[in-house]
Amino acid sequence: MGESVIPLADLRTRATPARVPEQPIPATGLLSDRLGRPLRDLRISVTDRCNFRCSYCMPKEVFDRDYRFLPQADLLSFEEITRIARLFVAHGVAKLRLTGGEPLLRKGLEALVAQLAALRTPDGAPLDITLTTNGTLLARKARALREAGLKRVTVSLDALDDAIFQRMNDVGFPVAEVLAGIDAALDAGLSPIKINMVVKRGTNCHEIVPLARHVRERYGPGVVLRFIEYMDVGATNGWRLDEVLPSAEVRARLHAAFPLEKLAPTAPGETAERWRYADGGGEVGFISSVTQAFCGDCNRARLSTEGKLFLCLFATRGHDLRALLRGGASDEDIASAIGLAWQERDDRYSELRSSGAAEPGSGERRVEMHYIGG
Ligand code: SAM
Ligand code: SF4
Ligand code: SF4
Repeated sequence: MGESVIPLADLRTRATPARVPEQPIPATGLLSDRLGRPLRDLRISVTDRCNFRCSYCMPKEVFDRDYRFLPQADLLSFEEITRIARLFVAHGVAKLRLTGGEPLLRKGLEALVAQLAALRTPDGAPLDITLTTNGTLLARKARALREAGLKRVTVSLDALDDAIFQRMNDVGFPVAEVLAGIDAALDAGLSPIKINMVVKRGTNCHEIVPLARHVRERYGPGVVLRFIEYMDVGATNGWRLDEVLPSAEVRARLHAAFPLEKLAPTAPGETAERWRYADGGGEVGFISSVTQAFCGDCNRARLSTEGKLFLCLFATRGHDLRALLRGGASDEDIASAIGLAWQERDDRYSELRSSGAAEPGSGERRVEMHYIGG
């Protein structure tokens, strides 16, 4: 535990300055990284705070009363986020995901959604804007978000059983309120809704079939349940391979209850493998970052709460775009810095982990997921 002498909060300040190349890199939408991957998807963390303490993400023992979250002045303002998002869109990004921490804790988030919804791709098309939330504030906010221009939403839900759910969020939050949030999102017209379940062996694996049954019976094909393998993100969750329930096993359990058929992917870079219930009961997804790495067509960038650009979920350092923004850089300079960072990208952590070339927990400490956005 020699590492723990570096306070976690201080790791956030470790960054690579965002370099502005001498020759501008024009935003043509054709950027490609060293492995030939385009840039299409930007995930934006709008807060590092959360009202849950899921042990796989923000364990209570680390993120306790003494933990120093970012001060307000360090967060990118909505105007700063929108300016950066606009430059990413010029470079080819067509999809934006607001995340965190818990994004709905960020005050007035609807105003940011409205600003982002007004952006257009170079072809004049609206963006695909979505949000990942733990659902606790959805019942209150779904309508305002929809009115601001949000089209769809992903809700994290790890169990239907209240005792298991409360144990997993570790703050005693009742599952009924999240279910009410999903109902409110459907009523507000947010569609399609995706539900993400992180499966941890020995913790919630008996919830796979009950949750699937609930989603099928209550919502039908309009809601897609996705099973996520427990990942070794960050440096605080004490990840162990034996707690990962591989997607193949999750699928086998589900198939035994509700026979499944494989579907073709709809878009390159899609994280989830898609399957459908043979009886027409809808679709499910499997996100298998541990057992089936999908780095080969990873087209995702992440913008942290304080404006650092991360090129991989498992990165240890970000490129400090906020310093450029607040230092008076022009749009052209910031776009060129984004372009250069992407052109130099060669990250493929999950692939390396699968091949044994990257050991979880080795080298520099990775940033936490709630800070760079899941
Ligand atoms: N607070 C919001 C939520 O929980 O939906 C958004 C942020 S959260 C970091 C985004 C997603 O990451 C959630 O679906 C969560 O379940 C997932 N996640 C967090 N830690 C994870 C881990 N160790 N392995 C797999 N998924 C994880
Ligand atoms: Fe909060 Fe989401 Fe992390 Fe759970 S997964 S602690 S809800 S940020
Ligand atoms: Fe993308 Fe990094 Fe995940 Fe690979 S490990 S899919 S490069 S975010």
